[in-house]
Amino acid sequence: MHGRGLFAQVIVPSPINEPLIYEVPTDLRDRLEIGMRVTVPLGKRRVAGIVVAFVSETHLTQVKQIIEIPDEKPVMDGPLLRLSEWMARYYLSSIGEVLATILPANVRREARRTVAASPREFPVAGGLQKRILTELRSRKGATTVKALARRFPGGGFYRALDSLVKMEAVKIRERPMRLLKNKRPTPPSYEPSGTPNRGKFALTSEQQGALRAIGERLDRGGFESFLLYGVTGSGKTEVYLRAMENARLGGRRSLIMVPEISLTPQLLDRLNERFPGRVGVLHSGLTQAQRWNQWWDIVRGNVDVVVGARSAIFAPLPDLGLIVVDEEHDPSYKQEEGLRYHARDLAVVRGKLLNCPVVLGSATPAVESFENCRGGRYTLLELTERVERRPLPKVVTLDLRSQKTGPGDSNDEQPLPGALLSPALKDALKENLGRGLQSLIFLNRRGFANFLQCRLCGFVLRCTHCSVAMTFHRKQQSVLCHHCGARKPARDVCPGCGHRSLMPIGAGTEQLEQELCDWLPHARIARMDRDTTGKRGSHERLIRQWENGEIDVLLGTQMITKGHDVSGVTLVGAVLADLSLNLPDFRAAERTFQLLSQVAGRAGRGQEPGRVIVQTYTPDHYAFQHVQRHDYKSFFAAESEFRRALNYPPFSRLVHLRLDGTKPQEVEKTAKDLGTWLRAQCQRQPSSYRDIEVLGPAPAPITKLRGRYRWQILLKGKKGPALLRLAGQTRTVVPRSMHVRLHIDVDPYNML
Ligand code: ADP
Ligand code: ZN
Repeated sequence: MHGRGLFAQVIVPSPINEPLIYEVPTDLRDRLEIGMRVTVPLGKRRVAGIVVAFVSETHLTQVKQIIEIPDEKPVMDGPLLRLSEWMARYYLSSIGEVLATILPANVRREARRTVAASPREFPVAGGLQKRILTELRSRKGATTVKALARRFPGGGFYRALDSLVKMEAVKIRERPMRLLKNKRPTPPSYEPSGTPNRGKFALTSEQQGALRAIGERLDRGGFESFLLYGVTGSGKTEVYLRAMENARLGGRRSLIMVPEISLTPQLLDRLNERFPGRVGVLHSGLTQAQRWNQWWDIVRGNVDVVVGARSAIFAPLPDLGLIVVDEEHDPSYKQEEGLRYHARDLAVVRGKLLNCPVVLGSATPAVESFENCRGGRYTLLELTERVERRPLPKVVTLDLRSQKTGPGDSNDEQPLPGALLSPALKDALKENLGRGLQSLIFLNRRGFANFLQCRLCGFVLRCTHCSVAMTFHRKQQSVLCHHCGARKPARDVCPGCGHRSLMPIGAGTEQLEQELCDWLPHARIARMDRDTTGKRGSHERLIRQWENGEIDVLLGTQMITKGHDVSGVTLVGAVLADLSLNLPDFRAAERTFQLLSQVAGRAGRGQEPGRVIVQTYTPDHYAFQHVQRHDYKSFFAAESEFRRALNYPPFSRLVHLRLDGTKPQEVEKTAKDLGTWLRAQCQRQPSSYRDIEVLGPAPAPITKLRGRYRWQILLKGKKGPALLRLAGQTRTVVPRSMHVRLHIDVDPYNML
């Protein structure tokens, strides 16, 4: 018995905030447990829900019955249910939306509705009804309502179908959900690399130290967050793998998260080597069927470790005893659509709820994480040296600023006008190719990155209030601050040096590829960015070729900066290293430091030492200075100072409110009304909201996205609970409208 009563509280994946009450039929009472899926009637539909509690009575008079239990066991355990509740509270969402986020689509799929025409003839009124009936007859037999609806776009379909049902001209059938039983899982798209088992080496003493700390916590039990800060190539992955082995020896399962699984086929190799046949994989590249199979393998305990990207944080592993987050600083852990959660932060919360250790690893920890170590919330573990004492690569910065003025003048190191590669980088490339070694060229050109910069002195237009770069809006011929709404007219005169030398900047990887091919016509050159990796498996293929030495020069966006370990790479070039620095984002310097340190970290992992050339307009910026010295801690100190001075996280908390809609005036008005309401609220309740700043409303940096106009408000405050309370109230204040939607982003990363 599981404390069950006559009624069950069921959460269905929908925006409904409260659990719904259903009666448990007598014949299901013995089988039903908390955390199980059930099929329940909701309106005219049948939907899947999760049982969260049992109650023995209800004051409701009309209670519907649970229809069936599709599975043999619960799909969510207690800690995972509590994590959902925590998410709903913290991210100001509904528990139903949380479940819709956590459960894979076909686990929560409602019953399939099929429709068939009656064999009898009916006198049908209305053109649409007649056409629907004719279509159905021509199909002979049942078809799904969804498929039929697609044949009749343009409205009115469901109403017409309803009338047909009422006159019994058609019949709708609900096929209840069934658990797909006894199906062999489809293997995910993963191919072993064929590299031989590298065998087990002796751990360095630093690795041993880190492993010991984690192992002790595993033995003793209880929650603890570790930050494993280890320079690139210091053997962090080896520490994770051994800790996971320890967990398994203790009968616990473990979860390891990576930013993008298609970029880390090597990790899959190593996991399969250590846990043959016991590795589950979850990521967005799986088909629905693969995801379904993986998910059930995990629920049933058929795997000991799960590796996955962001959403794997919800993997329903029984006896989960260790959570690892590799490259914990990576922005891809932040979900940017729908329910905007941060998987690294959730890892820590889940570990706390499970009472187990959590290991966050990085060569360039997030400022928040390192600050958490200083505050004693995380335990710092350090790996200061590369394995086998390999040196870190030598990093040189190359100043892109012109030394002289006037047309046609440039110094010898500078790229020619319109070109991306400097002579120094070109020579290095040629030399590296001649020696049969591999080169990596990084250009992080994001779709939206136009800003005004002085081509003489490197000056970038910044907001006086926010110390972020202002964004060039060509159409309005002005520059805007996307944090506070400040605006200036765009001119070509540089406020730094007074010359008419301000220019919009923008160059992409495609142009770079062309330049490289012209310079090295006989080299094998490949490009890796969103455009070249659209197809399933294309990442893996490129990375395998890169690993196997079939590519001489790999160029690309931030994708190429992530964790691969290829020993032939000895030269790394960063072409326009300032790009990420000039994003209108307070994390711009951190992001730049991380990207460059990571891409630099790809060099010199084999016998040959590596070198890195960073081309920049701002070589004196502290981010570049510290990259050059591989000095994370000094970077952290400088960055902390900046964050503290401007009251940014981790020294304050942020909630980002975005309003969007199809009618610009309406969005603007709603945003302004909300801003006024928020300010009034802060004045009215000074005791709770004293330290809260309301920034904006301002148009979003990307003022129109997918046909919707966007405005935003940023809330900043020292105290999390007060900030969340105020932000939570906005949900009831913004008028429910067909046209304007409010999105709340707690701890935002991307405010574009
Ligand atoms: P990181 O994750 O810190 O970048 P990895 O764990 O990928 O580093 O290790 C880098 C390389 O060094 C890998 O090829 C790994 O197999 C190897 N390695 C790890 N630990 C050791 C060790 N103690 N001795 C020798 N090689 C090691
Ligand atoms: Zn500003």
